[in-house]
Amino acid sequence: CGIIGILGSHEVSPQLVDALRRLEYRGYDSAGVATVDAGGRLDRRRAVGKLVNLSDRLVHDPLPGHIGIGHTRWATHGAATEVNAHPHQSGRVAVVHNGIIENFRDLRAELAEHGIQPQSQTDTETVALLTAHHMDAGLSPVDAARKTLARLNGAFALAFLFEGEHDLMVAARKGSPLAIGHGTGEMFLGSDAVALAPFTDRITYLEDGDHAVLTRAGVQVFDADGNQTHRAEARIDTGS
Ligand code: GLU
Repeated sequence: CGIIGILGSHEVSPQLVDALRRLEYRGYDSAGVATVDAGGRLDRRRAVGKLVNLSDRLVHDPLPGHIGIGHTRWATHGAATEVNAHPHQSGRVAVVHNGIIENFRDLRAELAEHGIQPQSQTDTETVALLTAHHMDAGLSPVDAARKTLARLNGAFALAFLFEGEHDLMVAARKGSPLAIGHGTGEMFLGSDAVALAPFTDRITYLEDGDHAVLTRAGVQVFDADGNQTHRAEARIDTGS
Protein backbone atom coordinates (compact mmCIF):
# COMPACT_ATOMS: atom_id res chain seq x y z
CA CYS A 1 0.00 0.00 0.00
CA GLY A 2 3.03 2.26 0.43
CA ILE A 3 6.32 2.29 -1.48
CA ILE A 4 9.64 3.90 -0.67
CA GLY A 5 12.95 3.71 -2.49
CA ILE A 6 16.28 5.28 -1.55
CA LEU A 7 19.54 5.54 -3.49
CA GLY A 8 21.40 7.00 -0.55
CA SER A 9 24.76 7.66 1.03
CA HIS A 10 24.23 5.97 4.42
CA GLU A 11 22.73 2.75 5.70
CA VAL A 12 19.20 2.90 4.24
CA SER A 13 17.31 0.29 6.29
CA PRO A 14 16.53 2.72 9.16
CA GLN A 15 15.62 5.46 6.66
CA LEU A 16 13.32 3.09 4.79
CA VAL A 17 11.47 2.12 7.97
CA ASP A 18 11.15 5.79 9.02
CA ALA A 19 9.68 6.65 5.63
CA LEU A 20 7.28 3.71 5.84
CA ARG A 21 6.07 5.14 9.18
CA ARG A 22 5.02 8.25 7.29
CA LEU A 23 2.89 6.04 5.02
CA GLU A 24 1.23 4.20 7.93
CA TYR A 25 -1.85 6.42 7.63
CA ARG A 26 -2.77 4.47 4.49
CA GLY A 27 -3.16 1.26 6.52
CA TYR A 28 -1.22 -2.01 6.09
CA ASP A 29 -1.01 -5.59 7.33
CA SER A 30 2.71 -6.34 6.83
CA ALA A 31 5.92 -4.63 5.77
CA GLY A 32 9.36 -5.29 4.38
CA VAL A 33 12.59 -3.88 3.03
CA ALA A 34 15.26 -5.04 0.58
CA THR A 35 18.74 -3.63 0.03
CA VAL A 36 21.83 -4.18 -2.09
CA ASP A 37 24.99 -4.05 0.05
CA ALA A 38 28.48 -2.84 -0.92
CA GLY A 39 29.33 -6.33 -2.16
CA GLY A 40 26.30 -6.31 -4.48
CA ARG A 41 24.28 -8.77 -2.41
CA LEU A 42 20.49 -8.41 -2.64
CA ASP A 43 18.62 -9.41 0.51
CA ARG A 44 15.38 -8.61 2.34
CA ARG A 45 13.60 -8.66 5.70
CA ARG A 46 9.81 -8.87 6.13
CA ALA A 47 7.39 -9.01 9.04
CA VAL A 48 3.65 -9.34 9.53
CA GLY A 49 1.87 -6.65 11.54
CA LYS A 50 3.13 -3.31 12.75
CA LEU A 51 6.34 -1.69 11.56
CA VAL A 52 7.86 -2.25 15.00
CA ASN A 53 7.95 -5.97 14.13
CA LEU A 54 10.04 -5.15 11.07
CA SER A 55 12.34 -2.77 12.93
CA ASP A 56 12.81 -5.38 15.71
CA ARG A 57 13.73 -7.92 13.06
CA LEU A 58 16.27 -5.49 11.63
CA VAL A 59 17.85 -4.96 15.05
CA HIS A 60 18.48 -8.69 15.41
CA ASP A 61 19.28 -9.29 11.77
CA PRO A 62 20.54 -6.04 10.20
CA LEU A 63 20.30 -5.42 6.48
CA PRO A 64 23.31 -3.38 5.28
CA GLY A 65 23.34 -1.31 2.12
CA HIS A 66 23.08 2.25 0.82
CA ILE A 67 20.31 1.46 -1.68
CA GLY A 68 16.98 -0.11 -0.88
CA ILE A 69 13.23 -0.38 -1.29
CA GLY A 70 10.50 -0.67 1.33
CA HIS A 71 6.81 -1.55 1.36
CA THR A 72 3.73 -1.59 3.51
CA ARG A 73 1.24 -4.12 2.21
CA TRP A 74 -2.53 -4.07 2.14
CA ALA A 75 -3.20 -7.60 0.92
CA THR A 76 -5.39 -8.05 -2.14
CA HIS A 77 -4.16 -11.49 -3.32
CA GLY A 78 -2.92 -13.88 -0.66
CA ALA A 79 -3.27 -13.69 3.11
CA ALA A 80 -1.28 -11.32 5.31
CA THR A 81 1.64 -13.69 5.92
CA GLU A 82 5.41 -13.19 5.83
CA VAL A 83 5.70 -15.28 2.65
CA ASN A 84 3.23 -12.95 0.92
CA ALA A 85 4.82 -9.75 2.27
CA HIS A 86 6.86 -7.60 -0.08
CA PRO A 87 9.58 -7.22 -1.29
CA HIS A 88 9.17 -10.26 -3.52
CA GLN A 89 12.53 -11.62 -4.56
CA SER A 90 13.35 -14.01 -7.36
CA GLY A 91 16.93 -14.64 -8.37
CA ARG A 92 18.63 -11.31 -8.94
CA VAL A 93 15.61 -9.03 -8.58
CA ALA A 94 13.39 -7.75 -5.76
CA VAL A 95 10.09 -5.96 -6.34
CA VAL A 96 7.62 -3.90 -4.29
CA HIS A 97 4.15 -3.21 -5.63
CA ASN A 98 1.01 -1.25 -4.85
CA GLY A 99 -2.15 -2.21 -6.68
CA ILE A 100 -3.24 -5.30 -8.57
CA ILE A 101 -1.73 -7.21 -11.52
CA GLU A 102 -4.97 -8.34 -13.18
CA ASN A 103 -3.40 -10.92 -15.51
CA PHE A 104 -1.14 -12.60 -12.94
CA ARG A 105 -2.81 -15.99 -13.46
CA ASP A 106 -1.94 -15.93 -17.19
CA LEU A 107 1.62 -14.89 -16.37
CA ARG A 108 1.87 -17.67 -13.78
CA ALA A 109 0.75 -20.21 -16.36
CA GLU A 110 3.44 -18.98 -18.80
CA LEU A 111 6.10 -19.18 -16.09
CA ALA A 112 4.96 -22.71 -15.21
CA GLU A 113 5.72 -23.75 -18.80
CA HIS A 114 9.34 -22.82 -18.04
CA GLY A 115 9.21 -24.80 -14.80
CA ILE A 116 9.03 -21.65 -12.68
CA GLN A 117 6.78 -21.90 -9.61
CA PRO A 118 5.74 -19.11 -7.25
CA GLN A 119 6.52 -19.25 -3.52
CA SER A 120 3.67 -16.94 -2.54
CA GLN A 121 -0.02 -16.47 -3.27
CA THR A 122 0.44 -12.88 -4.47
CA ASP A 123 -0.11 -11.30 -7.85
CA THR A 124 3.09 -9.31 -7.25
CA GLU A 125 5.49 -12.24 -7.20
CA THR A 126 4.83 -12.91 -10.90
CA VAL A 127 6.49 -9.54 -11.63
CA ALA A 128 9.68 -10.64 -9.86
CA LEU A 129 9.59 -14.12 -11.42
CA LEU A 130 9.10 -12.78 -14.94
CA THR A 131 11.86 -10.18 -14.57
CA ALA A 132 14.31 -12.74 -13.14
CA HIS A 133 13.42 -15.05 -16.02
CA HIS A 134 14.26 -12.31 -18.56
CA MET A 135 17.55 -11.59 -16.76
CA ASP A 136 18.42 -15.28 -16.82
CA ALA A 137 17.82 -15.17 -20.58
CA GLY A 138 20.52 -12.49 -20.82
CA LEU A 139 18.65 -9.19 -20.68
CA SER A 140 20.06 -6.29 -18.68
CA PRO A 141 18.15 -5.41 -15.49
CA VAL A 142 16.50 -2.37 -17.13
CA ASP A 143 15.55 -4.26 -20.28
CA ALA A 144 14.24 -7.18 -18.24
CA ALA A 145 12.06 -4.84 -16.16
CA ARG A 146 10.81 -3.13 -19.33
CA LYS A 147 9.93 -6.44 -20.96
CA THR A 148 7.98 -7.39 -17.84
CA LEU A 149 6.21 -4.03 -17.59
CA ALA A 150 4.99 -4.41 -21.17
CA ARG A 151 3.12 -7.54 -20.08
CA LEU A 152 1.31 -6.18 -17.03
CA ASN A 153 -2.40 -5.37 -16.95
CA GLY A 154 -4.00 -3.66 -14.01
CA ALA A 155 -3.18 -0.82 -11.68
CA PHE A 156 0.26 -0.59 -10.17
CA ALA A 157 3.13 1.35 -8.74
CA LEU A 158 6.30 -0.74 -8.83
CA ALA A 159 9.92 -0.48 -7.78
CA PHE A 160 12.67 -2.91 -8.83
CA LEU A 161 16.04 -3.50 -7.17
CA PHE A 162 18.75 -5.71 -8.65
CA GLU A 163 21.57 -7.86 -7.30
CA GLY A 164 25.00 -6.43 -8.11
CA GLU A 165 23.54 -2.98 -8.86
CA HIS A 166 24.02 -0.52 -6.02
CA ASP A 167 23.33 2.51 -8.21
CA LEU A 168 20.20 1.45 -10.08
CA MET A 169 16.48 1.33 -9.42
CA VAL A 170 13.58 1.03 -11.86
CA ALA A 171 10.14 2.43 -11.06
CA ALA A 172 6.84 2.39 -12.92
CA ARG A 173 3.32 3.68 -12.44
CA LYS A 174 -0.01 2.92 -14.02
CA GLY A 175 -3.06 3.90 -12.05
CA SER A 176 -1.27 4.23 -8.70
CA PRO A 177 0.66 7.38 -7.78
CA LEU A 178 4.44 7.46 -7.56
CA ALA A 179 6.81 10.35 -6.97
CA ILE A 180 10.54 10.81 -7.53
CA GLY A 181 12.49 12.84 -4.97
CA HIS A 182 15.67 14.64 -6.00
CA GLY A 183 18.49 14.87 -3.48
CA THR A 184 22.10 15.93 -3.75
CA GLY A 185 23.94 12.81 -4.83
CA GLU A 186 20.91 10.86 -3.60
CA MET A 187 17.60 9.95 -5.22
CA PHE A 188 14.31 8.86 -3.71
CA LEU A 189 11.07 7.22 -4.71
CA GLY A 190 7.80 7.30 -2.80
CA SER A 191 4.08 6.74 -2.99
CA ASP A 192 3.63 10.40 -2.10
CA ALA A 193 5.53 13.56 -1.20
CA VAL A 194 4.76 13.02 2.51
CA ALA A 195 6.97 9.93 2.53
CA LEU A 196 9.75 11.90 0.84
CA ALA A 197 9.48 15.02 3.00
CA PRO A 198 12.35 14.08 5.40
CA PHE A 199 14.69 13.70 2.44
CA THR A 200 13.80 16.38 -0.10
CA ASP A 201 11.15 18.88 -1.20
CA ARG A 202 12.14 18.57 -4.87
CA ILE A 203 9.56 16.21 -6.36
CA THR A 204 8.72 14.90 -9.82
CA TYR A 205 5.41 13.08 -10.17
CA LEU A 206 5.42 10.26 -12.68
CA GLU A 207 2.47 10.27 -15.07
CA ASP A 208 0.33 7.29 -15.92
CA GLY A 209 2.23 4.73 -18.02
CA ASP A 210 5.63 6.21 -17.19
CA HIS A 211 8.61 4.25 -16.07
CA ALA A 212 11.79 5.69 -14.60
CA VAL A 213 15.43 4.62 -14.37
CA LEU A 214 17.05 6.08 -11.27
CA THR A 215 20.70 6.42 -10.35
CA ARG A 216 22.25 8.73 -7.74
CA ALA A 217 23.14 11.10 -10.59
CA GLY A 218 19.50 11.59 -11.57
CA VAL A 219 16.46 10.08 -13.20
CA GLN A 220 15.46 9.28 -16.76
CA VAL A 221 11.71 9.12 -17.36
CA PHE A 222 10.09 7.25 -20.24
CA ASP A 223 6.46 7.56 -21.32
CA ALA A 224 3.99 4.78 -22.13
CA ASP A 225 5.44 4.52 -25.67
CA GLY A 226 8.94 4.04 -24.27
CA ASN A 227 10.15 7.46 -25.41
CA GLN A 228 12.30 9.45 -23.03
CA THR A 229 10.34 12.40 -21.74
CA HIS A 230 10.60 15.31 -19.34
CA ARG A 231 8.44 15.58 -16.23
CA ALA A 232 8.61 18.87 -14.38
CA GLU A 233 10.21 19.09 -10.96
CA ALA A 234 8.24 20.98 -8.31
CA ARG A 235 8.99 22.20 -4.79
CA ILE A 236 6.49 20.56 -2.48
CA ASP A 237 6.05 22.06 0.96
CA THR A 238 4.73 19.28 3.18
CA GLY A 239 5.31 21.34 6.29
CA SER A 240 7.97 19.05 7.72
N1 GLU B 1 -1.69 -6.86 -4.76
C1 GLU B 1 -0.51 -6.84 -3.96
C2 GLU B 1 -0.60 -7.85 -2.82
O1 GLU B 1 -1.65 -8.25 -2.45
C3 GLU B 1 -0.15 -5.44 -3.44
C4 GLU B 1 -1.10 -4.91 -2.40
C5 GLU B 1 -0.73 -3.48 -1.96
O2 GLU B 1 -1.03 -2.52 -2.72
O3 GLU B 1 -0.18 -3.33 -0.87
O4 GLU B 1 0.39 -8.24 -2.30
